[in-house]
Amino acid sequence: MKIHEYQAKDILRGYDVPIPRFEIATTQAQARAAAEDIGRMVVVKAQVHVGGRGKAGGVKLAKTPDEAEKHAGAILGMDIKGLTVEKIMISDAVDIDREYYIGMIVDRATKKPVYMVSEAGGIDIEEVASKTPEKIHKYAVDPEKGLSKEEALELAAKIESRPAVAERVADFISKLYEAFVGSDASLAEINPLVITPDEEVWAVDAKMNIDDNALYRHEDIAAMRDPSTETPELRRAREMGLSFVKLDGNVGCVVNGAGLAMTTMDVIAHYGGEPANFLDIGGSSSPDKVVTALEIITSDPNVKSILINIFGGITRCDDVARGLAQALAQTSISLPIVVRLTGTNEEEAKEVLAGTEFVSADTMDEAVEKAVELARQPA
Ligand code: GDP
Ligand code: MN
Repeated sequence: MKIHEYQAKDILRGYDVPIPRFEIATTQAQARAAAEDIGRMVVVKAQVHVGGRGKAGGVKLAKTPDEAEKHAGAILGMDIKGLTVEKIMISDAVDIDREYYIGMIVDRATKKPVYMVSEAGGIDIEEVASKTPEKIHKYAVDPEKGLSKEEALELAAKIESRPAVAERVADFISKLYEAFVGSDASLAEINPLVITPDEEVWAVDAKMNIDDNALYRHEDIAAMRDPSTETPELRRAREMGLSFVKLDGNVGCVVNGAGLAMTTMDVIAHYGGEPANFLDIGGSSSPDKVVTALEIITSDPNVKSILINIFGGITRCDDVARGLAQALAQTSISLPIVVRLTGTNEEEAKEVLAGTEFVSADTMDEAVEKAVELARQPA
């Protein structure tokens, strides 16, 4: 789950990571009041789930409350990479001497949390990574042991040569580790980590993603989900327990099991088609899930045919068939639907679907070929 900068900063502050004072505003008047509260130069920052806000005009320094109010007017409602700014952060502005980068991810290959640190922070780190990869230092932490003080210092020394400042950066790195592990983050990025002319260390920007599978044990973080950043389709899918990813093709897919869903997408591509989505309706599928899945898929105007590919194990084919029959009765789906059901209660499923308009297929190849062909035909 993605969270906003201010939410990541709230989490980090709980672990004593140095965060400049800030307030959140949704109106110009609130922005002015926040700037008056802080009483010094502030930075007005768009709160949207994308990076590169600075370049897009979504981060602006303000010397006075007047100026903060004016910037708030420009940034609120602004479109940044397709997202509308509804909230802004008014943060105590920090004097910048140096801008470093500190990132952390869970690396699946080594099964460890991995740090990436660079003295070339502030700007697009992707550009640094592609043009001057030697400027990014990586370090994998043994999660059983955690990060020792010595390791943190060694890492800090890669980007900061002044011993006293390096100690502070090392302390920052250690606290970030605690926050990362403690909140079950899958990603944490501090860019820039600022060193002031007085040699203070501050997290000026913060980005964190939290592992969805761990949200059950972080009620406070789970409550940070911003519904305005989720499309209505995605929200319905999540609430129904369906894993859904929208894609650009025209063959809608309803499949059970992530592996079979991936395979089905591959087979669609093999027959020259393009999937409109990834959708795993999961294990024990109720007819309701199938109805919801079909509604989500048919709300995409690109979809020209629908392919239902179910391997009945725990999922019973007759449940899925009843869902299909119900969906067809409830909604007016005019798209061709190709159905391939095999496995548990396959025969019962065939009886349920007898006499309906579904195109049935016995094998995955046959089903996919038909669905791709039907998507090609003019409606
Ligand atoms: P991003 O563009 O979405 O990554 O947003 P950031 O929070 O990283 O801000 C972009 C840039 O704005 C930073 O790299 C800084 O150069 C500048 N900036 C942000 N906050 C401050 C601040 O408190 N003081 C100063 N002087 N510059 C800031
Ligand atoms: Mn940044």
